[in-house]
Amino acid sequence: MKNLDDFEEDIYKCSRCGLCQTVCPVYKVTLNECSVSRSKFNMLNGIIKGDLALNKKIMEYMELCLGCNACKEFCPSSIDAREIFTAVKAEYKRKKPALISPYLIFKILLLFAGAGFSLYRLLRLDKITNQIFRGTDKLLFKRILLFNTLAKKNLKEKKKISSSKNTKTKKAVFFKGCFNKYINNDSECAVKKILKNTDIELIEKPFECCGISLLSSGEEKDFLKVAGKNLSLIPEDCDYVLTDCASCSYVLKSYEKYLPSNITPKVVSILDLIKDKTISVTGKNIKITAHKPCHEDSDFITLIKNIKGTDYIEAENFDKCCGFSGKFALTHQKISREISKRKAQDMIKTGAEFILTNCPACKLGLNQGLIETGNCEQTVMNVVEFIAQYCRIEQ
Ligand code: SF4
Ligand code: SF4
Repeated sequence: MKNLDDFEEDIYKCSRCGLCQTVCPVYKVTLNECSVSRSKFNMLNGIIKGDLALNKKIMEYMELCLGCNACKEFCPSSIDAREIFTAVKAEYKRKKPALISPYLIFKILLLFAGAGFSLYRLLRLDKITNQIFRGTDKLLFKRILLFNTLAKKNLKEKKKISSSKNTKTKKAVFFKGCFNKYINNDSECAVKKILKNTDIELIEKPFECCGISLLSSGEEKDFLKVAGKNLSLIPEDCDYVLTDCASCSYVLKSYEKYLPSNITPKVVSILDLIKDKTISVTGKNIKITAHKPCHEDSDFITLIKNIKGTDYIEAENFDKCCGFSGKFALTHQKISREISKRKAQDMIKTGAEFILTNCPACKLGLNQGLIETGNCEQTVMNVVEFIAQYCRIEQ
């Protein structure tokens, strides 16, 4: 990973015009100039010149960022704030490494959460707590309501993919996002259902998490370890590395920046595989809207607009961050909830029945926002889950 010094020229390009301030979701909520990339670049400039030290306080400012990169899109010099802040965090962590591997902690928590969730679902505790805590003001109860949105399963589990087509001409190794894998596998079920009668053979491997939280926190050592393991599991002869999450796609495509890899051209989202098909709702017309994840690089809005039998209503700020962004939602809960609330208000205004997205963290962000507004009439779904449950695809 690069060091801060490697970005000296990029940081120098900042003219302090302030355009980044107008789009930064964290600034809009906090009105804290230190959350804006311009101010962070000022601090980093001070470190490069030797006037400031890279210390805990500076790191707190680096963490005050969702990594949405809205600032890069508006910056006249296209300065990649996300990449720079990641490099700064990695440089700091190299000097002050964690005593216990953050990935080990993450994995243990995920395993416990997965097991706990299965039991929670089995006992139908989500139904009970949903009724008790609906409309609550208490943060703890709001968190329970948010977990309940994960407990709901819409699709039946199919461990094996079967097909009526005997000849499989293409091979896709399926990279299931860890969240989809351990907590709610509706998305996995949807992918298997959609690919059932195609000529694509789906291969499963024991992949680790893509490493997005490690990458964004600058945990270089652990990130390289999981990326290396994932790369070693990808068969040479596969045609696709298939994902069901925008963030996983983004990170898999970025592996080549850190390790020797030739997988980038093979990384495709399930949406890429169906974008040219005719997709139609099987029942009555459905009113939908969508949230575009910050990491989504495919034209998933066009795919959604083309679903026959739906009325798509574009929400204001549909392509702006939902405020969740993994660790940020835990470390900056108040800011995260407020950003999600504003996002949900834009979604509610559309009057749509379903909010479609393509990332499990965004699903949480949107549900977090709906809970904050106290209006939980809308259903948030991953677009592949929606297609698998309510649509048919003409092959
Ligand atoms: S938009 Fe770009 S050039 Fe302008 S202040 Fe922000 S980072 Fe600097
Ligand atoms: S990446 Fe997003 S949250 Fe971070 S400084 Fe830029 S606009 Fe703000």
